[in-house]
Amino acid sequence: MMKIQPITKFDIIIIGFGLSGITLLLEFLKRTNKKILILEKKKKLERDKTWCFWNKPANIFTKKNRKSWKKIIVMFGNKKITKYDESISYNQIFSDDLYDYGKKKLNQTKNSKLLLGQNIKKIKENKDGICIESNNKLYLAKYVFDSRPSKLISGRLVQHFCGIEVEASKNIFKTDEVILMNFQKHTDKVQFFYILPFTEKKALVESTYLSNVIFKKNKYISDIHKFLLNKYPNVSFTNNYREIGVIPMYRLKRRNSYNNFFKIGTADNWVRMSSGYAFQNSFKNSKEIVRRFIANRKIKIKERKITIFLDKIFCKFILNYPSEAQKIFLIFFERLNIQTIVKFMNDDYSILDVLKILFILPKIRLLKCMFIVLLENE
Ligand SMILES: Cc1cc2nc3c(=O)[nH]c(=O)nc-3n(C[C@H](O)[C@H](O)[C@H](O)COP(=O)(O)OP(=O)(O)OC[C@H]3O[C@@H](n4cnc5c(N)ncnc54)[C@H](O)[C@@H]3O)c2cc1C
Repeated sequence: MMKIQPITKFDIIIIGFGLSGITLLLEFLKRTNKKILILEKKKKLERDKTWCFWNKPANIFTKKNRKSWKKIIVMFGNKKITKYDESISYNQIFSDDLYDYGKKKLNQTKNSKLLLGQNIKKIKENKDGICIESNNKLYLAKYVFDSRPSKLISGRLVQHFCGIEVEASKNIFKTDEVILMNFQKHTDKVQFFYILPFTEKKALVESTYLSNVIFKKNKYISDIHKFLLNKYPNVSFTNNYREIGVIPMYRLKRRNSYNNFFKIGTADNWVRMSSGYAFQNSFKNSKEIVRRFIANRKIKIKERKITIFLDKIFCKFILNYPSEAQKIFLIFFERLNIQTIVKFMNDDYSILDVLKILFILPKIRLLKCMFIVLLENE
């Protein structure tokens, strides 16, 4: 049996050097001088996600983005809706931009550090704090923030996708417009392609589904190949980067097992249920956590009950009436201006905005879904 080495003490331990772990770390480094340890499972940090976010509210990457688009396109068969507003942009970074930024800020500190290759399984509480065992070493901290994902519940609605960065043999992509959703017709699920053009030849093309059945990776890849072949029959493509994701479209139960132990990120519902976006929430929630930490107040994230309620109704609609869900997206994008859409997606809307949205949507089926949500009371 290997001998466990003595305990090393920290003020704060963050499990996971991903989106929520890094945004929280950055906020702690900015506003406190606590001794922080980050334990990350991956052995190497490289690009594994392409993050996009609206330019409002601003975050550290708003101006340091890799690419930014002002024309937002949503397509339903031959119908193309273009949204444009000079003040709104859809910004993009690669996940390694955030990893590098987090590492750079850590290197500027004396007492905080990141350890890679740490697959955390054992966590215990003792009288001195919370104890974490990793690779035969013990780490102790008064506060632990844990971004390990929760197990997904099979049969529940999820957003599942695979994206491929393709390089075309000809100039085919319009670099000033992003295709947010190009809907495909299905009766039992919602599917759309998401296209982020980086250059006229290079783009990330993603096949995304909203359904309760997940596919094998090859299915999404063959979707993308078929889509490209159909749209650009005389163009050949190469690719060398892929990313995949399965994101819950339901609320995860909050389980903070110990005092001063907090789930963060996807495991704490930081991903918006209806859209799968978490980038802006991670900055907002990390700020809130550190603000409360400094003020010595109970650490919890404030959530708008109305947003949770509306998202639950919307997700219930997708699950129960997938063939009609496109109609909701169509009305949403056709009738609302992009400012209202962005406010809604960023959870920064007024009651008037909600009324504007509810007024235009098909009511009977939505009301049915609302009653189901109320009856389920989850
Ligand atoms: C491919 C992809 C693209 C996305 N694109 C967008 C987007 O464009 N815009 C947007 O707003 N949202 C997007 N999302 C949703 C969301 O922003 C991301 O999922 C985001 O990474 C969630 O942050 P997180 O901190 O919860 O998880 P992660 O960023 O995955 O971080 C969790 C970290 O914990 C580590 N970990 C896991 N288990 C252990 C363990 N046992 N011990 C130690 N460490 C562990 C992981 O390796 C990981 O580094 C995307 C999601 C995916 C999957």
